[in-house]
Formats: sequence, structure tokens, C-alpha cells
Amino acid sequence: MRPCPFCGGKVELRDKLDKGYGDETSFIHCTKCHMWFEKFDYRAMSHESIIEEWNRRIEVKPCPFCGAKATLQPFYCGLSYNWGVVCTETFAHHMTFGGTQEEVIKEWNRRVKDD
Ligand SMILES: [Zn+2]
Ligand SMILES: [Zn+2]
Repeated sequence: MRPCPFCGGKVELRDKLDKGYGDETSFIHCTKCHMWFEKFDYRAMSHESIIEEWNRRIEVKPCPFCGAKATLQPFYCGLSYNWGVVCTETFAHHMTFGGTQEEVIKEWNRRVKDD
């Protein structure tokens, strides 16, 4: 599995019981920064396909302005936060969106491509 997009730490797959619906939901947990990736919809997926999805979706393309590595980050605003992608080189190059982690990564990757 690919490492955590925030800290580069090792991630692991966990299962939990969603009490509201009684369904078992799987999610990915970072063992280093303890970030939980539960916005990815893993319901009713096999562990193999979850790992496949994770590896495919979590890739954050390099910054389109300077080519430096970019990472997914939460941007805090009071008690709530939005997800954004930030350039690790300058921090000036970033995009913040209101969507889920998955949507933010998709949007960033889509803009980087821009063809
Ligand atoms: Zn982490
Ligand atoms: Zn940049």
C-alpha cells in the first residue's frame, strides 16, 4: 500500500462497525499521524479492491507551477476545515476545495494534467 499522503507514514486497513446502518465499513488509518481516511467509500468492497483503490486514488501529482512534490493537507478555519493540496516547495501553490479528500486529490490531478 502507498504511504500516507500527509506524513509519508505507514498506513493500514481497518474495519469498523457503522452503528447507524449496521454495515461493516473499512477505512485506512495512518500509524504515524493517525489520520483516518474514512471519506473514501469502501463499503462492501473486498480488502484487495480497497488497497487497489487506495493506491490508485492517493497519488497526488507534482505542483504544476514548480514541479515540486505536493501533499494533501487539512486547512483549518475555526472549528471546521477544508481539504487542500499544497506545494511542499513554496507553500504558495495550493488549492483548497470543499470536497472530500478523494475529490480534492482528483481535482488537483485533473488541473495538473489540463490538456
Ligand atoms: Zn500520516
Ligand atoms: Zn509549487
